Amino acid sequence: MITNELKLPVVNESGFYEIRMESIGGLGANLAGKVLAEAGVLNMGFNGSNFSSYGSEKKGSHVRAFVRFCAPDIEVRVNSPVTEPHLLAIFHENLAKSAPVTQGVKADSIVILNTSKNPDEARDFLKLYAGTLYCINAMKIAVEEKTRVNTALLGAICRASGFLDPAALKDMIAKNLGKKYASLIEPNLKTFDRGYHEIVSKHFKPDGKYPYIPFTRNGQKIGYFNQPLGGVIPNAGSSINKDLSASREGWIPVLDRNKCTSCGECDITCPDYCFVWEDGVDKKGKPTRILEKIVYKSCKGCLRCVEICKFDALTSHKEFEVDKTIIEKGYTE
Ligand code: SF4
Ligand code: SF4
Repeated sequence: MITNELKLPVVNESGFYEIRMESIGGLGANLAGKVLAEAGVLNMGFNGSNFSSYGSEKKGSHVRAFVRFCAPDIEVRVNSPVTEPHLLAIFHENLAKSAPVTQGVKADSIVILNTSKNPDEARDFLKLYAGTLYCINAMKIAVEEKTRVNTALLGAICRASGFLDPAALKDMIAKNLGKKYASLIEPNLKTFDRGYHEIVSKHFKPDGKYPYIPFTRNGQKIGYFNQPLGGVIPNAGSSINKDLSASREGWIPVLDRNKCTSCGECDITCPDYCFVWEDGVDKKGKPTRILEKIVYKSCKGCLRCVEICKFDALTSHKEFEVDKTIIEKGYTE
């Protein structure tokens, strides 16, 4: 299937329409970039390229995926990261708390954010300089359709781009799932359609509310001349600084303290030390340690704690349905 009309709405000085996806390992940005590039090149007839950059390949680490499209007669000789995207897709809003995701966004850029916020709230949250901001609650769609956020975001990217053919993308989604995951094709195509139709947008002019953020490379901060003596690690990890909330895929555990026996099984199962304990007394009045709460900032939503709890004190819930006060407190009663 080759689409006849080959038109890119805008290109840079090298002739490319450039897309950057900012994501967290596990949300599927790498695959989304691959599907997008294959749909554009194999199904629509553009020339183009796609690659991703990530750290330890671990769930929870920052991932960037890049896609370039150009006319079929242009050779792709650029292999560097996309610094000034025509279209930027942010796969989890909490990523903006820990990474400069809007670097290089200009007045004519398109920004897609996975969020439940409206465009005005989302602009303030991102401190977005300018551009056309599209909001899509991809997490909610993925939870409801039992799929992943990347397909909903592909639908949103397709719609916001103004030139990508939904049929070309849907064909490539189905091909990538193939015979092996044939039962997932229908829910994923529905997820794509919902992403395509449920986006809401607003254009923001450069009104001076927030500054333009240029793209900067994360070069080596420590080298031959300034490395500390003795293998000292100056930026050791800390549970105070880390924020894994962007790794969650729509589900969280909720602790009911009335049912909890403080047996401690969840604590030894949790890979991220999310459980906080306090001094208390047991039913006989004997001093003991009591499970106080879950720190959701550290929780990546793996739900292993829910599986292990024999007393139904931990249950899984759709995050967007849980009262914010429960997330702030870390428990319900
Ligand atoms: S496993 Fe369940 S009962 Fe045991 S401490 Fe954790 S929440 Fe409480
Ligand atoms: S879901 Fe449970 S086990 Fe997994 S990170 Fe969160 S608190 Fe820990």
